Amino acid sequence: PTTITDELGIALANLADSATGVLTPTLRLGVTGLSRAGKTIFITALVHNLLTQGRLPGFAPLADGRFIGARLAEYPDATIPRFAYEQHLASLSANPPVWPEGTRRISQLRLVLKYQSAKWWAGMTGPATLNLDIVDYPGEWLLDLPLLGLGFAEWSAEALARARLPGHSREAGDFLAALDSIDVSRDASDMAAEQLAATFTTYLRRSREHGALSTLPPGRFLLPGDLEGSPALTFAPLPRPPGAVRNGSLYAMLEHRYEAYKAQVIRPFFRDHFARLDRQVVLVDTLRALNTGPEAVNDLETALTAVLSCFRQGETNPLLRPFTRNIDRILFAATKADHVHHTSHDRLEAILNRLVANARKRASFAGAETKSIAMAGIRATSEGTIREGGETLPTLVGTPLAGEVLDGVTYDGRSEIALFPGDLPERPDSLFEDGQPVALNFLRFTPPQKLERNAAGDLVLPHIRLDRALDYLIGDWMA
Ligand code: GDP
Repeated sequence: PTTITDELGIALANLADSATGVLTPTLRLGVTGLSRAGKTIFITALVHNLLTQGRLPGFAPLADGRFIGARLAEYPDATIPRFAYEQHLASLSANPPVWPEGTRRISQLRLVLKYQSAKWWAGMTGPATLNLDIVDYPGEWLLDLPLLGLGFAEWSAEALARARLPGHSREAGDFLAALDSIDVSRDASDMAAEQLAATFTTYLRRSREHGALSTLPPGRFLLPGDLEGSPALTFAPLPRPPGAVRNGSLYAMLEHRYEAYKAQVIRPFFRDHFARLDRQVVLVDTLRALNTGPEAVNDLETALTAVLSCFRQGETNPLLRPFTRNIDRILFAATKADHVHHTSHDRLEAILNRLVANARKRASFAGAETKSIAMAGIRATSEGTIREGGETLPTLVGTPLAGEVLDGVTYDGRSEIALFPGDLPERPDSLFEDGQPVALNFLRFTPPQKLERNAAGDLVLPHIRLDRALDYLIGDWMA
């Protein structure tokens, strides 16, 4: 019965969307990626460049001279936090500039875009308008979709098997020890539930920190949003006790909380937000994985597979079908491309493309068109050359963040340096064939220290290929 209500809910919501959209079409663009992938920077840069008509030669409506302007508008749904665009821009233009705080929960923003259509009848109808609704949400939350199809016993069995894998012992040790000291058939107690949930969360956190880039569900355990500390997040996987489950036992209590998490947290997110998206951009910190090593690259491929399964159309599991959506385009973007020389940008794109192709196969993904791009929402480096032993080497010039270390030097966050960032392999296949690590000099930089202003006095935020990303995501809606 819930499934029918969900389908009805989505149908009604979409109907309402199209009813209000009779005059103004609305494109709902999802922006996601794991924590620190670059969502906040991407959205801030995208909004700012549209509002100020920045340098976007690859964005057709602007390049063709058909783009009239953009403005921010009130978001129709008052229950969702607004993306804090002004605050983020203020951080970036502070003295000294600082990176804003990243995405912790879902937020939205509406831009109204005015343009002249290129269609033959456009001359008669005058300028057209498009509402661009940007929906920012943690990629961690996507990993929860499969849970909707799993009961507590099934999920527990999977999660415990994973925690007991030899490679997980360092991270999962405390949780498994806590489990061993507890009899799951005894009377339920909040203390026991909290202790188990705490050690389980620590395990998930640690496996994320120890080089692993992909994460394990439940997604809210890592990024709780507004649910921090609530009972819906106070559960953990448990071995099923032999025989019937006794009412009032610890097992029954956590099973109940798991079901509540599905019904009250996962389901509403997929139904009310995810299932209503038209386009999606998935941001991927590909360079960090390449810099960490072959295992991290494998792990990234696993994470991409999980992400792609959420976008699989006509999902094969009927329980999950109502929560997926016919998104017709997904853009995978390797962020922070300003950490490598421009000669490596195409190579970075090729590497991500290869990862996505592998993930597509593993997720038996059919449906939406996908594309990979290497980009930087905000470019924090410039390029130069140094001469070393009669050779001219391409360099990056930027200010490393305070505390960054390279070759035994610790930076103070104030001095600009030139460094040779290292090359990405010319053939992406070589990376996968010999599992060779890539030698990158990967340092985090401060945001650009001196920003230009345009003729209207607005800040100019430099970027890499943001215009191409934008063109792929919304250009055809403004044809
Ligand atoms: P989120 O967690 O996905 O919202 O990630 P953010 O957008 O907050 O980005 C995380 C961090 O990555 C930022 O604080 C920056 O240090 C860095 N970053 C993100 N985008 C860029 C970029 O385009 N260029 C550079 N150099 N750094 C970036």
